[in-house]
Formats: sequence, structure tokens, C-alpha cells
Amino acid sequence: MKPWTVKGATGDWEIVVGLEVHAQVTAQSKLFSGAATTFGAEPNSQVSLVDAAMPGMLPVLNGECVRQAVRTGLALGAEIHKWSRFDRKNYFYADLPQGYQISQLYHPIVGEGTLDVETDDGARTTVGIERIHLEQDAGKSVHDLHPTMSYVDLNRSGCALMEIVSKPDIRSPAEAGAYVAALRQLLRYVGSCDGNMDEGSMRADVNVSVRKAGEPFGTRTETKNVNSVRFIMQAVEVEAKRQVEVIEAGGSIVQETRLFDPNSGTTRSMRSKEDAHDYRYFPDPDLLPVEFDDAFVAECLASLPELPVAKRARYVDTLGISPYNAAVLTADVETARYFEAVLDGTGPSLATAAANWVTSELFGALKKAGVGIEASPVKPGQAAALLKLVGDGAISNSIAKQVLEVMVETGEDPAAIVEARGLQQVSDTGAIDAAIAAIIAANADKVDQYKAGKEALFGFFVGQTMKAMAGKANPGVVNERLKAALAG
Ligand code: ADP
Ligand code: MG
Repeated sequence: MKPWTVKGATGDWEIVVGLEVHAQVTAQSKLFSGAATTFGAEPNSQVSLVDAAMPGMLPVLNGECVRQAVRTGLALGAEIHKWSRFDRKNYFYADLPQGYQISQLYHPIVGEGTLDVETDDGARTTVGIERIHLEQDAGKSVHDLHPTMSYVDLNRSGCALMEIVSKPDIRSPAEAGAYVAALRQLLRYVGSCDGNMDEGSMRADVNVSVRKAGEPFGTRTETKNVNSVRFIMQAVEVEAKRQVEVIEAGGSIVQETRLFDPNSGTTRSMRSKEDAHDYRYFPDPDLLPVEFDDAFVAECLASLPELPVAKRARYVDTLGISPYNAAVLTADVETARYFEAVLDGTGPSLATAAANWVTSELFGALKKAGVGIEASPVKPGQAAALLKLVGDGAISNSIAKQVLEVMVETGEDPAAIVEARGLQQVSDTGAIDAAIAAIIAANADKVDQYKAGKEALFGFFVGQTMKAMAGKANPGVVNERLKAALAG
């Protein structure tokens, strides 16, 4: 495939991108303390003495965070390191009371893996994963609450992050976006990160360089803490264009850390790039190396759910769902969970009907109601009951739409709604025949035209009959009885 390029004055430039994604580990407590991790709590209400770096406090590793990192690594097909170690990364910042961050530079817990990525145009590529290491998050400085002072909120201080480092395998803004979306999807399936980018649970450092085709990699810049898929794509694009302009004007790219400003859609220099030695990394003397055995890894593997790629394939191959619907239903773990709960109720014979109904009728209704599927007023069991009423011929598709509207509004069961409103489908030929006879009598001219060969009028008769039956007639029976009556 033709690579995505920046068109410069001197011709086309290819881009090279590698992403470092920080994903907050889903865990009740922090990486080295028992303080809670709930988002949005009152500032400084979730800070233990360890997180506040009081002298003499000792970190104690949270086993759940180790487990989540290993599960994530396994989901990425990555090498798991049964021996890893924490290092101190020393730097000063007001929201870092320890004066160092505990991270894993030399011996990360997870090594190389891969992630398959599909862009919107259907193109596929595999992005290499370099490593995943565990580290602590810093606190947060708040600069906009007071005219002359800054505040520090340490709730986030010490929360566990997985830093997931990609290889420089990404070649376009679209691939960068698709990579982050696929990673977010996977983490949410695994349950190791909630993926809430608005809450900062996932953010990316975006490394970008440019080069002419066939040349070695250029010097990269790193744009820090970009917190949405759209901004990540934008940061890649504007930074690549900026670099091309600099180089074509005779300048050169300096390896530096930059900031993305979503308001102006530009990046600006923050500081020159620091190297590992600037941080004086050394093994944290307060912590033993992390060691586990094969049995632990096997337990982590056994705990993984079916992952998106496998699930999507199974929906198509085993359930006979269209590839498009399978992609939609597996895009997010909550949707897949809902759909499978519906299938538990209907059984696999209604899988395609259920897939169509969830992706069109239910999604439409939820969108109208402004709620996500996890908060659907229609529970999966009720959805299954509705689908079965249609499948059994008790109600028609068009009546099912009306029933769904009431279900969304009231949360009632479909059978109760059908019963209370007398919406059962009429298959009784007596009632249908009577309606047909009346319509034929009232439309003698159209009957003549139909008999003379204007077959398109059949639809008119069907429509009239359904209307006379208030939409409740079984369409199959109506068709059959109309054909017979009009042939007479
Ligand atoms: P550091 O530890 O200094 O941040 P790494 O080697 O760990 O450097 O790389 C960090 C990120 O930069 C990785 O995601 C990697 O894929 C990416 N990267 C490395 N070289 C380049 C390059 N020339 N252009 C774009 N991205 C790069
Ligand atoms: Mg880095």
C-alpha cells in the first residue's frame, strides 16, 4: 500500500510514529499503598503516608497490579518476564513528593508482543509492542484555582500505570488512532484499564519523525500526554508537517519533549530531551525484585476472556452473523456482553435476528434516549423475550418496534405490553379474510387493473389490509390470502 506522506516543497516525506501509552491499572488500591483510586474524589482524600512520601514509609507492592500487567501482556501475545525489578527515576516536581518515580527501566515485567490494527478503510497492519512496565503516577498540580498560587492534589499520586511502549511501526495519523483504539478495546476486554480517556485513565506520548522514502529514521520529538484518539491523530499530523517545514527551511530537528495544544491544534517545545542518565535511575532499595512462577502465568492466562479478534471471528463463523455486524457488536466489551446475554435468552437460532435488532433497533432507541448500552433500560432478558415474540410469530416486526418504544419508556416486559395493549399478531384467517373482502369491494377499479396485469398494485392491497388490521395481521398470512382472493 502507498504510504501516507507529508507533501513538502522537496517532495513526499514519510512519517514514523511510536506511541508510549500510559494506562491506569484497574485496581482498588494504589501500586504501593492501600489508598483508594476512585476517580473524582475530594482532593487529597485518597492519600496514604506512602503516597505523601512521609519519611520512613515503605512501599508494599499490590499483587493485583502485577496480575493485571501480566494479563495485559498475555492478551498482547507478549513475552512475560518472571523476574522484573523496580527502579527509581529521580526528578523534582511539586506534584512528586518522593522526588522520584518508581518505575521499571531495565527489567520490565512484560517484553515484546504485537497488536493487530485495522484502520477505517479496512487496511490492516501489525504494530510491535516493545515492552510494558509498571510505574507510579504522579499527583496533579492545579493552577487555575487561585490567582497567585498553585495547588497540589495527591489523589493520583502512586496510582498504578502500565506504560505500553510500541515499536516505531506506525506510519500514518489514521494508524496511530487505530492503534490506540484497538489497545483501548483490548484493555477494556481484559479489564486491566477502564480506558476512560476523558478521566485521564489512558493518555499517550506521541513520538514522531519524518524521512524520505528509503532513508533511515529521522530524529524524533515526543509530544507528551495527549488524551484523546482524535488529538493523538492531530498531534501526529501537525508535528510531522512542522518537522518537514523545519527541515526544508534548512533547519534540523532536535530531540525534544513537546506539548500539544488542542485549542490551536499545534505543538510547542516544552524541554529538551533528557536521557536515562539525567534521571540517575537505580534499583529501588525498598523493594525486592518481582518474581513469580509458571503457575501464576497460567492462572493469569486462564482468567482472560475471549478477546475481540477471536470473538469477532466466532460471531461470523459459528453464529452466522455478518462481518459488519460482528465488528460492531465486538467493538466494545459492554456491547458484546449485552449481546451475549441476549443470546443466552434466545438461543443461537435467533443470532442473526438478535444481531440485526441490537445494531439497528436497540442502538437507535438508546441513541434517542441518550444512554449507553451498559445503562440500557431494556435488559438483555427483556430483549430476548421481545425477539422470541417476533420469532414465534406472536407479534410482527412493526409491532415489535412499537413495543420497544414502550419498553424504553417504562422498562416493562414485552409480553406484558403486548397483552395489555392487545398487540398480538392475528393469524386467524377469518378476521384477515373479512378485511380483505371489504378492501376488494371498496376498490373494484384497482382490482380490475391488477387483474389486467398491473401487479405493482399488490403492495397497495397488502398495505390496506395491514392498515385495516392495525398492523397486527401476520404478513405471511395476508400475502397468501390476498393472492387467493385476487385470483378469484
Ligand atoms: P525513550 O526511552 O528515550 O523514550 P525509546 O527507545 O523507549 O526511547 O522510545 C520511545 C518511543 O519512541 C517508542 O514508542 C519508539 O517506538 C519511538 N521511537 C523510537 N525511535 C523513533 C523514531 N525515529 N521516530 C519515531 N518514533 C520513534
Ligand atoms: Mg519514553
